[in-house]
Amino acid sequence: MIYLDNAATTRTAPEVVEAMLPYFTENYGNPGGIYSLGSAGRKAVNEARRILAGALGARQEEIYFTSGGTEADNWAVKAAAESRPGRGRHIVTTKIEHNAVLNACRYLEKQGFEVTYLDVDENGMVDPGRLKAALRPDTILISVMAANNEIGSIQPIGQIGAIARERNILFHTDAVQAFGQIPLDVEALKIDLLSASAHKLNGPKGVGMLYIRSGVELPAFVHGGAQERSRRAGTENVPGIVGFGAAVKRALGSMEERAERETQLRDHLIRRIESEIPCCRLNGHRSKRLPGNVSFSFSYVEGESVLIMLDMAGICASSGSACTSGSPDPSHVLLAIGLKHEEARGSLRLTLSGENTREELDTAVDSLKEIIQRLRDMSPLYQEAIRTRC
Ligand SMILES: *Cc1c(COP(=O)(O)O)cnc(C)c1O
Repeated sequence: MIYLDNAATTRTAPEVVEAMLPYFTENYGNPGGIYSLGSAGRKAVNEARRILAGALGARQEEIYFTSGGTEADNWAVKAAAESRPGRGRHIVTTKIEHNAVLNACRYLEKQGFEVTYLDVDENGMVDPGRLKAALRPDTILISVMAANNEIGSIQPIGQIGAIARERNILFHTDAVQAFGQIPLDVEALKIDLLSASAHKLNGPKGVGMLYIRSGVELPAFVHGGAQERSRRAGTENVPGIVGFGAAVKRALGSMEERAERETQLRDHLIRRIESEIPCCRLNGHRSKRLPGNVSFSFSYVEGESVLIMLDMAGICASSGSACTSGSPDPSHVLLAIGLKHEEARGSLRLTLSGENTREELDTAVDSLKEIIQRLRDMSPLYQEAIRTRC
């Protein structure tokens, strides 16, 4: 099997599983307990917190563990909105956010908030000037993702953070795809709230975090006990949190060389597809792009058919976003960069990990080339188009 869907989720690294195991079997005590069995878990949670804070240039007390990226996004967006009733009811976000942010915004619209969904350019980039122009005196929150999960475009979040800070508006960034892939420093980038998730960087599923800059008054989202300094109730997912810490340590230690290697593999993949498969278009920015992301649209094929045939060849890939698979609607991200419905439906996303080899990628392109040719051979539209141009 060749796994090329690392933006959907990653394999939990063996050393991460190893680090987690004792917290299921031996050190299973409740970290809230006074006894020493609880203190082992408590220490491990704090060690993970220290690693995560270090990775972001944050302080330990600014890191709050959650059940994943979705919860972190929901908490950031909804709590930020609801905590500022006197200041205004306007939020600025983009058309290419993950559904965790978009649907939280849509929920807020039903509660009477106003949301501006910014357009992006044809490369999927947010324009800071356009964002600035969208701000109003009653704007309370800006939420712009650090890097996009479908097309990999990396946003100018430092510039956006500076604009937000200058206007005293809260700035949230969904960094689920960016964390562990590109350097992120919450001070330098002037970020107030940042979401991340363990399973996108070889950690376990079901654990994430929200960074809350100290001084930002963000009310609790999950109410209950006093865990996470009374801001996020619920007995800590100790093994998950330990795994998150181990995964971040691993990802950070290898970030530079991994990025360099993945970028080379990515560009090799892009070059081969562009030169060997006609009528295709690269989605997303060519260079301001996550090291492991390749996204293409192929005319005259259905992405779903390509995926099924790739699967039969032992290759796991994705069309658009995993969260929307099973739905016939084309991806909102691909529509936002200007693709027509049929172009968006002919899209394919291949996302790499540090473990993929050049041989695997070459095998994948060979299969892809053959599959697309086979599908196009059945398309009268393609037969027609090939005589003219794509
Ligand atoms: C995967 C993803 C999420 C959701 O994170 P979960 O931990 O799966 O809930 C949010 N935002 C982006 C950009 C993602 O890629």
